[in-house]
Amino acid sequence: MSKNKHLPKDKEAPVNGTTHPETQKTQQAADKATTYAASVAAPETVVVDNPPPKPNYPLYRVQPGERICLADIDPNTSEHYRKKKEVMAELEKHRQRIRKLQERLYAENQRSLLIVLQAMDTGGKDGTIKHVFREVNPQGCQVWSFKIPSDEEASHDFLWRYHHRVPQRGMITIFNRAHYEDVLVVRVHDLVKEDVWRQRYHIINEFEQMLTLSNITVLKFFLHISKDEQKRRLESRLENPDKQWKFSKNDIKERRLWDEYQQAFEDAISNCSTAYAPWYVVPANKKWYRNLVVARTIADTLEAINPQYPNGEKGLKNIVIPD
Ligand code: AMP
Ligand code: MG
Repeated sequence: MSKNKHLPKDKEAPVNGTTHPETQKTQQAADKATTYAASVAAPETVVVDNPPPKPNYPLYRVQPGERICLADIDPNTSEHYRKKKEVMAELEKHRQRIRKLQERLYAENQRSLLIVLQAMDTGGKDGTIKHVFREVNPQGCQVWSFKIPSDEEASHDFLWRYHHRVPQRGMITIFNRAHYEDVLVVRVHDLVKEDVWRQRYHIINEFEQMLTLSNITVLKFFLHISKDEQKRRLESRLENPDKQWKFSKNDIKERRLWDEYQQAFEDAISNCSTAYAPWYVVPANKKWYRNLVVARTIADTLEAINPQYPNGEKGLKNIVIPD
């Protein structure tokens, strides 16, 4: 290795593959923050007062480095629950937990939560938002639904339109479709070359780590439905006049690409489930069970974040409100 003549001796890059102490320190700082973030993203390691329901974690969480096969994951499963009626009370309990914890997150105004929802068409992203976040104060919550990029969006780097919508401090933000579209629809429809979408897995991991280090907890849910279930849901959209607005003839074209999409999802989830920003593959044929899994995962993660009401100003005790 040639030495840099312009650097003083102690600033020279070390030889023999050793890392410079400054570089090491920087790496250690990032590792420490990432380890903390990973503990929050694995709430069962933090939440001790109120253990999450069993069997919960890491039941649907994809472990870093794990290669998933969607065909091996049953979208119909629902633990020991058999009917919607059996989960209603528990779902409501989790909604209330989310409500209270969100209030604290908002008041604390230091950290935030980004929830990514992805699914095949009809997979239930909209329904999940409607049912899980019913109790949340709209002031502390934002939903962004990403469609085909506008001309302006398309003329920037692919992360641009997502990055400026990530949550500010104190907020919960939901991405209804997200930066993963740029390794899903884009790949399936050959909108960019393979070496371009392939490198995006790495870019996405770095992006999510950067968010993590900025006190944003990133949680990602893939709502996993079967091809038969999609058929039933598309038929029901066609038959019900109040649902027809949700039907697009394009959905039929996309359905023909089912296998290609499943492959793209498998690769995206396998490549981008990290300790700090995990993917959950949620069995989603039963809508009520899907809602339960998403709600309790969010509630448990918020509990691990453990947001605190800030202290009031000093000397409030003696204050008398004038008439
Ligand atoms: P919907 O969510 O049903 O309203 O549909 C939104 C459409 O936008 C879907 O067909 C997505 O595949 C498409 N879409 C979202 N993000 C992108 C993207 N980055 N590139 C191309 N198409 C996209
Ligand atoms: Mg649609």
